[in-house]
Formats: sequence, structure tokens, C-alpha cells
Amino acid sequence: MLQRKEPAVSHIFARACAGDLPEVARGDGVYLFDKSGKRYLDGSGGAAVSCLGHSDPDVLAAMTAQMKAVAFAHTGFFTSAAAEALADKLVAHTPPGLDRVWLVSGGSEAIEAALKLARQYFIEVGQPTRHRVIARRQSYHGNTLGALASGGNMWRRQPFDPLLMPSSHIAPCYAYRDQRPDEDTEAYGQRVADELESEILRLGNEQVMAFIAEPVVGATAGALPAVPGYFRRIREICDRYGVLLILDEVMCGMGRTGTLFASEQEGISPDITVIAKGLGAGYQPIGAMMCQGRIYQAIAEGSGAFQHGHTYMGHPVAAAAALAVVTKLTDGGLVKRSAAMGEVLAERLLAQFGQHPHVGDIRGRGLFMALELVADRDSKAPFDSADKIAGRIKKAAFARGLICYPMAGTIDGQRGDHVLLAPPFIISESEIDELVDKLAMALNDVVPERR
Ligand code: PLP
Repeated sequence: MLQRKEPAVSHIFARACAGDLPEVARGDGVYLFDKSGKRYLDGSGGAAVSCLGHSDPDVLAAMTAQMKAVAFAHTGFFTSAAAEALADKLVAHTPPGLDRVWLVSGGSEAIEAALKLARQYFIEVGQPTRHRVIARRQSYHGNTLGALASGGNMWRRQPFDPLLMPSSHIAPCYAYRDQRPDEDTEAYGQRVADELESEILRLGNEQVMAFIAEPVVGATAGALPAVPGYFRRIREICDRYGVLLILDEVMCGMGRTGTLFASEQEGISPDITVIAKGLGAGYQPIGAMMCQGRIYQAIAEGSGAFQHGHTYMGHPVAAAAALAVVTKLTDGGLVKRSAAMGEVLAERLLAQFGQHPHVGDIRGRGLFMALELVADRDSKAPFDSADKIAGRIKKAAFARGLICYPMAGTIDGQRGDHVLLAPPFIISESEIDELVDKLAMALNDVVPERR
């Protein structure tokens, strides 16, 4: 007797929310393959994660060796050679002064650690009133409660608002939309940076603990760097008022913008920085918070312990994977490759979309690039949010075998959709051609040049 086949039910919560997804079967270089054998070019490294591509033999070997030796030992009892070597390697390549590393399991955890460290630091140095965080409107710092409270992604924050600590949001540095016609770039950067000073003064200097920002904004704005001079002014303001500068390099760090840390290109050093995504390159979940020695010293010479921690911090296998990743990025020359291939990608995007009536801006650094989509190039009018342009492009690209990362405008639905590209640093010129061709076809499916 024939049995009626019931549709398969997925018990994975996230999948139930995301809808019907293909099952990933394997990865190879810049490609992922689903169970049916269909090939996808990973043009965004997932969400700017897979900087080395898939199935890197050196990372797999480092993880296997560590697992064979010891997979886990609690950091309350042991350190590990992998975690020590990773911290040494990071410190050897960071902006000046960031010489202590706190290893966790991802970006949001690292942000929580940064916020709690900032708070405890001010208690240790006798400034216990400092607790307020200032961030920028177009920013995302993660989904745990402290990180969510800091970020300016209103859509993600809205249902959880009653659970969030108070925070303030100043203007992002978004020259394409906000620079006035009569204003030069430097003056624009100073004007928006000065909003930080106004907000510190409004709140009362003695209340403010930290300013947090992504040096190149990722998901909420689409590979958006600040104009030259902006971060130097921000640094000056933080110094003037004794406010800690936290730079969130979860997405833009680890070579993504062509230097290991995006802040290197701004000529400043933060007090605290946060990395994740590219640190583990998808091979293991890992993140890190790094701070200036004086912050560590205040705690070491004060109460003696950072009142924070998680079970899996400093996990040996994650540390071994990250050490192999960072070694390839630095000694293996992949950061330099990100810068070089970034130029190729920028050139191809400009050639393909430079005159496209619905591409308002092409921006980014290194292999962290984005297109901002507009209904009208001259007026920069965004598409109506009801058109769901970003979601439709994601779907069209995926159908054509391209993974890219489109996002809807997030301040108030009026800022424009964008498509973020963040391919693995091993990408070749012909694979860049394939990426740009497929993206052009996907755009044509949704926002054709002639409608
Ligand atoms: N900060 C930034 C800039 C991010 O882009 C993200 C994630 O997308 C996070 C923090 C949070 O990282 P995670 O998703 O690993 O918790």
C-alpha cells in the first residue's frame, strides 16, 4: 500500500523561522555545495566570516592536533599553549598598547566583556558614576542584551526595549547621505564627530563610560568607512573627557579591510577593541576583547580580578584554529591579498555598476565592499521598504548560485537597501568576475536597469 509522504518537519528553531533552506553538504575554497550538488560562490563569507574560504587544510590540521592532545580544559584550572600563542600573535600585530586579550566564543560575548570591563575599570579607578554608553545610530554590536542596548539597529532592539540599559545614539559618519553640498569632507567629519562631545556634555561627563563604534560599519550600513579625520577627532574627544573608546571590529577586523585591524587605517588606537568572525574564519566559534595595558593594570592592582567569565572562554580547539587562521593572515600574506584583491573587486564593481540607475554608491575597503541601492540616483531616494528589495536580491542571487549579504536600510526604513560583499581572501580574479556577473544578473532580476 502506498503511504502518503508527510513533509519533513525541521526541529531546528532557526530553520523554522528562516523557511525552506537547502542542506549544506561540503565546502571547498570559495564555494559551498548543497546536498543536491548545487554550487554557491560564497561572495560574503557567510556574514563576513569565512576569510580563508572553506576546508583549509592548515586550520583543519591545527584543530585535529589540538583535539588529539586535549579538547577542553577549564580556564579556571589551566591555560593552554594554543591560547597563549594566539594572544601573543594578536598582541604582536595590534594597534599600539592593546596588550591584553580576553578570549570568548563570539562577537556578542566579546562586546559584553568590553562593556563590563569598561564599567569595572571606572569603579577600580574611583569614578563609579561612569556607566553610560554612547554609540551611533547606524550600528550593530550583537544580539545579547548589553550589545543590543548599545547598537542602533532599531528593528532588532524594538521588542526588547524594556530589557535594555539606557544608551545614546549620535549620527553615523555617512557622507553619501549626510554631507551637505556646501561642506567639505573634513568639515563634515568634524561636525558629526562633534556630536559625541555634545552628547557627553548633555549626559554629564561624569556619567559617560564609553563610546563604541565600528571603524567600517558592516551589516547596518554596508561597508561604510568614516571620512578621513573623523576617528582622530573622536579619539581627541574621548581623551578630553576621559571616555573609553571601544572599536568593534567583529565584522571589519582580521584583514577584511586590507589591514589586520581596520583602525590601523584611521591612525588611532582604541582603549578596547573587539574581534570575532574572521578570527575563527568559521572553523570555530571564537571572539576576543583586547584592551590597553593600563586598563588591565587598574584591575590587577585593584580588586585583582575581572568579574566576568564564560565556560568556553579560551577554548583550546578554538584557540588552535584561530592561531592557524591569524598565522595565515599575517605570515601567510592573506591580509595583503585582501587589500590587493579588494582593488580588483572595487574596479570590477565600478565597471559593472558605476552607471547603474539603481546603484547610488559603491563603497568599502579591501574585500569589504557594498552597493547602496536607490530608486533614483539623482535624488538618492531609497526604494520603498514595502518593495523588500534586499530580501529579493538575496533570494535571486542564491538561486543563481551566489551568496551575498543584502540588508534593508535600518534607521527608519529611509536610508536605502545595500548589498554587502565579503568574499574569502583567497578569491581569484576569475572568481571575482563570476561574483560580479552573478550579482549583476540578480540585480537585473529585481531592479532591472530599464523598467
Ligand atoms: N559586532 C558587529 C559589528 C557584528 O557585525 C556582529 C555580528 O554580526 C556582532 C558584533 C555580534 O557578533 P556575533 O553574531 O558573533 O555574536
